[in-house]
Parts: sequence; C-alpha cells; structure tokens
Amino acid sequence: MDFEVSKEHEMIRKEVRRFAQKVIAPQAEEMEANKEMPVDIVEQMGELGFIGIAFPEEYGGTGGDWVGAHICLEELARADLSVSGILDASSSLVGQELFMFGSEGQKQKWLTPLLTGKATTGFALTESNCGSDAGALETTALLEEDEWVINGTKQFISFIAMPNASICVVAAVTGVDKKGKKIISTFIVPKDNPGMVISKNYGKMGMKAAPASELIFTDCRIPEENLLGDPERGLAQHLIVLETGRITAAAMCVGLAQACLDESLKYAKERTQFGQPIFNYQAISFKLADMAVSIELARNQYLKAAWLKDKGRPHTFEASVAKLYASEMLEKVTSDAVQIHGGSGYMDECPVSRYYRDARCMQILEGTSEIIRIIISRSL
Ligand SMILES: Cc1cc2nc3c(=O)[nH]c(=O)nc-3n(C[C@H](O)[C@H](O)[C@H](O)COP(=O)(O)OP(=O)(O)OC[C@H]3O[C@@H](n4cnc5c(N)ncnc54)[C@H](O)[C@@H]3O)c2cc1C
Repeated sequence: MDFEVSKEHEMIRKEVRRFAQKVIAPQAEEMEANKEMPVDIVEQMGELGFIGIAFPEEYGGTGGDWVGAHICLEELARADLSVSGILDASSSLVGQELFMFGSEGQKQKWLTPLLTGKATTGFALTESNCGSDAGALETTALLEEDEWVINGTKQFISFIAMPNASICVVAAVTGVDKKGKKIISTFIVPKDNPGMVISKNYGKMGMKAAPASELIFTDCRIPEENLLGDPERGLAQHLIVLETGRITAAAMCVGLAQACLDESLKYAKERTQFGQPIFNYQAISFKLADMAVSIELARNQYLKAAWLKDKGRPHTFEASVAKLYASEMLEKVTSDAVQIHGGSGYMDECPVSRYYRDARCMQILEGTSEIIRIIISRSL
C-alpha cells in the first residue's frame, strides 16, 4: 500500500488552489447574487487544462488521471461549488460519455470544445415522472428516414442555459424490447436546434450560479449520426458515467466542507466572547476537530474510488460509499460552520450561509442518499 502523493498530483492541487482562491473565490458572492457564472471562468479553466485532466491530449485533455481530476474538483469546490459543477457536466458525465461511447467524429466535434473550456454542456436524463427511477423515461425519439425526431420534456437540467453551452446529451425511449422493457438511447442535440427550447430556469435554494432548466423537445430533428453509442444501451451508458459522477460529487463535497473548516477555524480564533477566543471553548474546538476528522475520511474515500477507476478495477461500492458519506458529512459540517459563526453565520454576507444552502443538493444529485444506500446494500 502506498499513500504517497505524487509530484503531479501535488502540483495539480497547488495550481488549482492558486487559481481558485485568486480568481473564483473573490467572485463567488457576486455570482450567487447575479445567479450567473461568467463564461470567462470556464474559458480560463479550459486554458489551464483543468477540465480535461483525465482525457488524452488529442481531444484537448492533459493526459492525466481521475485522481488528479478529482483533486482539481475538490480545490474548485473549495472556492465555489457551482463552478466545480462545470467539470461534473463537461468532464465526468458528458465528456466521459462522448469519450467512451462516441465516434471519432463526435469526439473531435463535441468533446474537444468541452475539455478546452470553449463550450459547456447539459446532461438530460430527469423528467417529471423519471427521477430516481431512471428507466421510467417518457421522452421519445423516432427515426424518420435519416433523422431522429425527439419529443418530451426534461427537468432540472444543469448548465444548458449557460451562454456558451454547445450541446445537450439527451436520453430518450426508442422502442420496446421482447420483454416489454423500454429501450433507451442517447442523443447529442446541438443547443441551437429550434426543436429544443429552454422553457424556464428554476429558482434554487443554493448553487445559484449553476443554472438548472426545463427543456421542451417538440419535433426536435437531429441527424441520424447524432445517436451516441449503442442504441440499445443508452441507459447503461448513462449509469456508467454516473458512477464517476458519484466520485465527483464526493470530491465536490470535500472541497466545500474544507472551505467551511477554513472559515470556521479563522472565525473561532478571531471571535472573542467572555474575554477569550471562542476556539478556547471545547464546545467549539471539538466541533472543529470533528469537521477535520470527517473531511479527512471523506477525502481518503473519494481518492480510493478514483484510484480504483484509474486502475480499471470495479468501484461501484467505493464510489457509492464516497458519495453517500461525503454528502451527509457535508450537511453536518455546513451546519456546524453556521453554528460556530453564531448570528453572523446566518447572514448573507457570511460565506458559510451560502455553503449551507449550496450543500443541500449534494444528497440529491447523482443518486439520492436513499438510492445510494440501495446500491450499497445490494453489494453486501
Ligand atoms: C440542483 C440540481 C441539479 C440537477 N441537475 C440535473 C441534470 O443536469 N440532469 C439531470 O438529468 N438531472 C438533474 N437533476 C435531477 C436529479 O438527478 C434528481 O432530482 C434526482 O435523481 C432525484 O430524482 P427526483 O428529484 O425525481 O426525486 P424522486 O426520485 O421522486 O425521489 C423523491 C424521494 O423518494 C426517494 N425514493 C425514490 N425511490 C426510492 C426507492 N426505491 N427507495 C427509497 N426511496 C426512494 C428519493 O430518495 C427521494 O428522497 C438535478 C437536481 C438538482 C437538485
């Protein structure tokens, strides 16, 4: 066993932290207030090679690994959770689905711009009657001569409303198999297709700089070659990349939890009550110690899952444990961070109030805690 951090991984952490704390963190409050992420942040992350760490250079990546990619994600989330979400969509989900299942032409055309930060993307699975039950899709795609025609409505789709979004990867029902089960396929829909319309952007509890939209497909015609991967295995493809998405979510949770610890430690040493810093009271310093313990454990678990992925070994259990533990740890850590800050922690001007709201969606995204517990219990 070797817990040594490689020089490359150390360098990634250092470089991403420097950029994230200098460029992203100072804008986080403004992005939240404006409910908008400046496109140039994505462009800069692309130019610095942050988005494509785990992808080959020929597609705009940097030829690194998933451990490095997740260290990068942690550091970005430490500065702002919404910004780190860009890597979830462009790299872990859509990026990987294009890389693993796309044709050479699709990779050149759609993957490279994502990894180099020239474009962003949406990953459209969820519908009003299809959330945890991902196989219950109702959106349809029918082949008419040499075009697929998509009809249906998707909800809660992240980042497709970004001004630089280029494509949406969309899951749709294309038929029924011999057992009467829906056949689900995956399609690449360019954002400028007139048949795909953003009907609304949701107001959200947190992650306000990461837009989430409803998408309506009305006789949305795309060329036959925009089918992504195996026509009969669209859902399986989604589920494969969602497994990486769980490691990604865990790394994002660790980054945000670390930001809570950073802020809380600083505050506890500065804030004086009853004649001494509140850090001197065990009730406060033990909260900080508990935060540090749970962050350390969550970090080790996401790194282990990413390492297994890099080795090409099964990691369903490890990725699920990482996501479940990190997201539930995050709720406790953000709550304790608000508590340590007292009344100040509840005010908008204090970053931990934003962290508290941002954190809540992490137990829902990429599989709810309940669904992850089902996955874990099945593997026992
Ligand atoms: C901020 C945000 C961004 C999102 N971005 C995207 C996106 O980009 N693309 C996309 O496709 N989706 C996206 N989603 C949707 C997200 O993936 C779903 O919300 C999630 O999968 C849960 O589905 P649901 O909301 O329909 O809840 P449901 O599936 O209706 O679940 C409701 C509750 O029932 C529980 N439950 C359901 N089934 C079971 C069961 N068998 N056993 C026990 N409990 C169960 C759930 O755990 C949950 O507590 C986003 C969601 C959020 C909040």
